[in-house]
Amino acid sequence: MSNLPHIPSQFLPTLDAGWVWLCGAGPGDPGLLTIHALNALQQADVVIYDALVNEAILDWAPNAIKEYAGKRGGKPSAVQRDISLRLVELANQGKRVLRLKGGDPFVFGRGGEEAQTLVQHGVPIRIIPGISAGIGGLAYAGIPVTHRDVNQSVTFVTGHDQSGQSPSNLNWQAISDGSQVLVIYMGIKHVERIQGQLLSAGRPSDEPVAVVTNATTDKQRVLETTLGGLKTDLDAAGMSPPAIICIGRSVLMRQVLDWQGMLTGTPARDLDPLGRGRPAEAS
Ligand code: SAH
Repeated sequence: MSNLPHIPSQFLPTLDAGWVWLCGAGPGDPGLLTIHALNALQQADVVIYDALVNEAILDWAPNAIKEYAGKRGGKPSAVQRDISLRLVELANQGKRVLRLKGGDPFVFGRGGEEAQTLVQHGVPIRIIPGISAGIGGLAYAGIPVTHRDVNQSVTFVTGHDQSGQSPSNLNWQAISDGSQVLVIYMGIKHVERIQGQLLSAGRPSDEPVAVVTNATTDKQRVLETTLGGLKTDLDAAGMSPPAIICIGRSVLMRQVLDWQGMLTGTPARDLDPLGRGRPAEAS
C-alpha cells in the first residue's frame, strides 16, 4: 500500500461542459489507467463505456451517469453510428462526456471514427491514450513485445473486421514476411484460418505462440503452444475471447519473465530461454 502523491493541478486539465474526452481504460487491471483517465472519471457527467472496460473502474466516476455501449445479453452491439451520434448529442446538451474504451482508443477500437464524427459536428475533443492489450496484456504474461535478440519490428493485426468476418484485405504473405513477431487482436474466431495462412506463408510450425485471455485481470489465462498446435491446443484449453495471440520467439521469454507466476512462487523455468549464452546485461 502506498499513499499516492498530490498531483499538481497543472497536470489535471478541466473537462469542460460540451466536451468529449475519448479515453483508453487499458486492458483490465484498473491500476493501468492513466492519470488523465482518473482525472476524467472524477469530472465526467456521463461515461459511455464499452464491453471490455473493467466495471470496477466505473466506481471511480462518482457523479457520472454510466451508459453501456457494447454487446450484452446476446443483444446486438450498439451501432457505431448511433454511439458516435449519442456522444454528439450529450456534448450538445452541455454534458461533460467521457467516452471510455478498452485498451487504447485508437488501436482497433474505432476511436478514430468516433473522434472524426465529433470533430465533424464541431464538438471539442481530447484524446487520452491507454495501454493496449497487445502490449500491456503481453507484458502481464511475461512477454516483451520487442526484444533485441528477437525482433526489430512487430506487426499488430486484427483477426476480424467490424462485421466479424476475417478481413479480406490482409496480405498474410506480407505480414508473415514482414516481422518476426505478430500480435493478433480478435484472433480467436478465425484462428484456424490465421494459423493456416501463416503456415502456408512459410512460418514454421514449431514457432512459439502464446494466447493470453482476459489479460491483466484476475481471470487472465495464458496458453503456450506452437503455430502448428495452435487451434488444437486452444480448443483443448477451452479458452475464449478476449484474447491476444502472440506469434514469435519473444514468447519464449515468458520462461524467464513470467512475473505473475513468480508472485505465486513459481520459479523461472529457464534463465536464458533465447540461448544467448551470456548475461543479459552484456551487449
Ligand atoms: N482498443 C483495444 C482493442 C479493442 S479490439 C486495445 O487497445 O487493447 C478488442 C480486442 O482487443 C479483443 O478481441 C482482444 O483481442 C483484445 N483485448 C482487449 N482487452 C483484452 C484483454 N484484457 N485480454 C486479452 N485481449 C484483450
